[in-house]
Amino acid sequence: MKKNLVIFGAPGSGKGTYSAEIAKRYGMAHISTGDVLREEMKKGTELGKTARGYIDEGRLIPDELMIDILANVYDGMADSTGVIFDGFPRTTRQAEALERMLAERGDVLGIVVELHVDEATLMERLLKRAEIEGRADDNEATIRRRFEVYHAQTEPVAAWFEDKGMRRVLTWKGAKEQMLADIYAEIEAAGVATPL
Ligand code: AMP
Repeated sequence: MKKNLVIFGAPGSGKGTYSAEIAKRYGMAHISTGDVLREEMKKGTELGKTARGYIDEGRLIPDELMIDILANVYDGMADSTGVIFDGFPRTTRQAEALERMLAERGDVLGIVVELHVDEATLMERLLKRAEIEGRADDNEATIRRRFEVYHAQTEPVAAWFEDKGMRRVLTWKGAKEQMLADIYAEIEAAGVATPL
């Protein structure tokens, strides 16, 4: 039985950065759906071409497609002890599908770590990342759209996790090390993983 976790938060909240650290500390696998889609775009696959239209506009890939992709990637990680879901689920339908997918495989979702960062800090980080990584969707207009999509479609998922007793909210206090320590404390308190 795999014990998994979701890292949840607005664009720029640090999901990818923290996921990499969590993966290292606990030996967990990491699925970033954004990275999966960007890889497909780079390879020029049909999926990549479909994804590009949505990503460049800051909109979400349709649930059906995203849920299929996620299940495929997850099944490719069968020998890991647990998976960090980064950037998934982003809608309530995706959350329901994730719950079903895990139940079908006898696996569980331990907790959902939700990162709260003020919007000015998020915007500043994303514009800085634009200079470094050159992601097409890290421009101010698309970032604004991604924030809107987050508020409208993704934030409601937090209440869904709250009802399940899985939600752990952590607020940015200005230091990455502090945030990481808080995340590790939640993971270990919930018994999701133990350090290697
Ligand atoms: P991210 O790297 O997580 O910020 O994702 C970049 C973009 O990929 C998003 O703005 C969406 O267009 C798309 N994307 C990533 N994950 C999902 C998902 N779970 N559902 C729908 N679209 C997604």
